[in-house]
Amino acid sequence: MKTIYDIPDLKGKRVLLRVDFDVPVSPHSQILEPFRIKRQKETLDYLVKAGAKIVMAAHISATDSFTDLIPQLHILLGYEIGFIKNIESIQDYLKNYSVPGLLENIRQFAGEKENDNSFAQSLARGFDLYINNAFAVCHRKQTSVSAITKYLPSYAGTLIQEEVAQLNSVMRAPSDGKVIIMGGAKASTKIPVIKNFIDKTEKILIGGVIANDILKKKGQDVGESLVDENVKELLSGLDLNNPKLVMPSDYNISENKILDIGPESIDNFSEILKNAKTIIWNGPMGLFENDKFATGTKAVAQVIANSSAFKLIGGGDTITAIDKFGLSGRFDFVSTGGGAMLAFLAGEKLPGLEALKYYE
Ligand code: ADP
Ligand code: MG
Repeated sequence: MKTIYDIPDLKGKRVLLRVDFDVPVSPHSQILEPFRIKRQKETLDYLVKAGAKIVMAAHISATDSFTDLIPQLHILLGYEIGFIKNIESIQDYLKNYSVPGLLENIRQFAGEKENDNSFAQSLARGFDLYINNAFAVCHRKQTSVSAITKYLPSYAGTLIQEEVAQLNSVMRAPSDGKVIIMGGAKASTKIPVIKNFIDKTEKILIGGVIANDILKKKGQDVGESLVDENVKELLSGLDLNNPKLVMPSDYNISENKILDIGPESIDNFSEILKNAKTIIWNGPMGLFENDKFATGTKAVAQVIANSSAFKLIGGGDTITAIDKFGLSGRFDFVSTGGGAMLAFLAGEKLPGLEALKYYE
């Protein structure tokens, strides 16, 4: 995989930079959690300093357009950012403007989600090279992440390098002393990680909706608790009685729903986490958005933050949770990837990394 440090001379080069600005946004267009945006600054600074002409491409799910977010991006990144409304305006922008530009929400353009070659060609026009710094979209086979690399010399930005290095290092850490703690929902992205790690860790602690899923699969009554779909298929092949898999022993139940882990589970999880040397955490232990059901997530987050283990965490809601508890900055590495991080940890090949020739 070639990185931006392999580019001989960036001065005056026209660079298409895939960034990740997919952050939560309020109905009044206020950015609620800027972590992913701030993590783009290192590569952007490097390119600006080297004298490159930059056009950024990104998607946003919380709103349709980047228009109202431009002033906030300016403050967060420290640069005035130009706004480019459509693909046709890119040439004009490259000719007439020198500040970094941001193209409108890339997923609004036909062909992006289909990884379309002709869209990739139009997107590549006028650029000298392409840099991908959007680790969190690397699990998607889409034009601005994958097909684009057929039409421009392509490089990885600093964030992709760092994410891959950190994730590899926790994957390769000795299984003795390695503890994974997995919660949240979306079983389809999490159970593959459990399967990949079950023989490579000391313990896997389970909370959140994933615990409900396992209880249900074991034939226990979960009342009206939230459960994921297709868990039966997803869990097949995983020995649910494996002693490495640690389920909660009690729960906080309200209106016939399991909404958090209980006090005994918190003690048990804390004991295991205290002795860990490597901790990987993804997914809240309960419905933490409601203070009544945030106890489990908060307790676990505090134990991890205070542990002397190497601590890697990730997931959009997990990051929101640590913010809420005032624990940001207390972890060794916070991945910007939700789905991408989980796919990497599950041992899958990520299309975006494949396009950068990472696996060759
Ligand atoms: P992340 O974004 O960190 O990967 P997920 O998106 O998988 O996490 O899941 C987070 C969501 O799961 C949160 O909104 C949380 O409220 C919800 N959740 C966790 N446990 C429960 C539960 N027992 N019942 C309902 N929702 C839950
Ligand atoms: Mg989430």
